[in-house]
Amino acid sequence: MSHLARAEIVVDLAALRHNVRVLSRLVGEDVAMMTVVKADAYGHGMVAAAGAAREAGSQWLGVATLEEALALRAAGDSGRVLCWLAVPGEDYAAGVAADVDLSAYSVAELDEIAAGVEAVGRPARVQLKVDTGLSRGGAARADWPAVFARARAGEEAGTWRVTGIWSHFSSSDEPEDPANDRQERVFRDALALADEVGLDPEVRHLANSAAAVLRPSARFDLVRCGIASYGLEPAPGLMPDLGLVPVMTARAALAMVKHVAPGDAVSYGRAWIAESETTLGLVPAGYGDGVLRSASNAAEVLVGGKRRPVRGRICMDQFVVDLGGDEPDPGEEVVLFGTGLDGGPTATDWAQASGTINYEIVTRIGGRMTRRHVDSGLDSGMGAGVGAP
Ligand SMILES: *Cc1c(COP(=O)(O)O)cnc(C)c1O
Repeated sequence: MSHLARAEIVVDLAALRHNVRVLSRLVGEDVAMMTVVKADAYGHGMVAAAGAAREAGSQWLGVATLEEALALRAAGDSGRVLCWLAVPGEDYAAGVAADVDLSAYSVAELDEIAAGVEAVGRPARVQLKVDTGLSRGGAARADWPAVFARARAGEEAGTWRVTGIWSHFSSSDEPEDPANDRQERVFRDALALADEVGLDPEVRHLANSAAAVLRPSARFDLVRCGIASYGLEPAPGLMPDLGLVPVMTARAALAMVKHVAPGDAVSYGRAWIAESETTLGLVPAGYGDGVLRSASNAAEVLVGGKRRPVRGRICMDQFVVDLGGDEPDPGEEVVLFGTGLDGGPTATDWAQASGTINYEIVTRIGGRMTRRHVDSGLDSGMGAGVGAP
């Protein structure tokens, strides 16, 4: 058998391109696509993921920090990039020089951006984020008049162009929650106020993946798709079948196989005890590789075409699975999670087993695992909505 890496992450860029195209077709050509590549593209590798998203026609990339935006520029990306999380003292001059669309939440931030513009000697692009009910970032409603007035004054002075007004949902993964209607109404109030003060932004946007798919009224001019671009459902069980394909596969080489007898306890704390004879497989990845310890005794992996339960606690470097009497050769492939198309577990299954969301599974996996980008070509010659290669 061919030699497998101890533990690796395989990222299929063709699946990413496919997902971006599926989402773009769904929202329609009047709505711009922003692929969100923050946090190293949710663990998929930011630069490679950004390149695939651009190839699939994504006009915008979204990141949290200015450092991420500058890293995209350093890697050669010259398209529109929005960043949205700053602290006082941020290097806005670098952001302006790199032609990044900057977000502002407050008059103080706008003043700092103006200083950056002064230093660089060219106008900025600024998007105003308004808080419509998430109570996280964004301008509080009481501050909208002051923020909008400062933004408009800066526009008139040639300091910047206000390219966007935007907000973010608290509960788009719970589409029945009335908070979604409320936030959309409040967002429309913000747009009306912006209009009154003479702002005419290029893009108005509110929707992340869940809202882009489940709430057509919230699509406005642009949607910000993160998790769905990576082929994972933001609202498991509530999504239509779009044929999205999970982009990341986490796999390992089986390190050893052994027999245990009834009464034998497995791993730290003896948290699982064999009731009957069985075989165990040792998987050489653990929480030091981002395999969540909270999936102990709960998650499953795929070995030899069958799902095998994790037994006992997940350790720093390794964990144990129940092979049910089978004796695969050491070195055989263990798929922790992947496309699910072969019957194996997905990141969503791991999330359910660990009491978290699939976002955290793919973003946290890594550590000592190596990451490899591949191109399966699954998006060539595939029609919309066809999920399997
Ligand atoms: C992370 C993020 C997104 C993407 O959300 P998904 O649910 O992954 O699509 C969109 N907008 C903002 C402001 C975000 O922080």
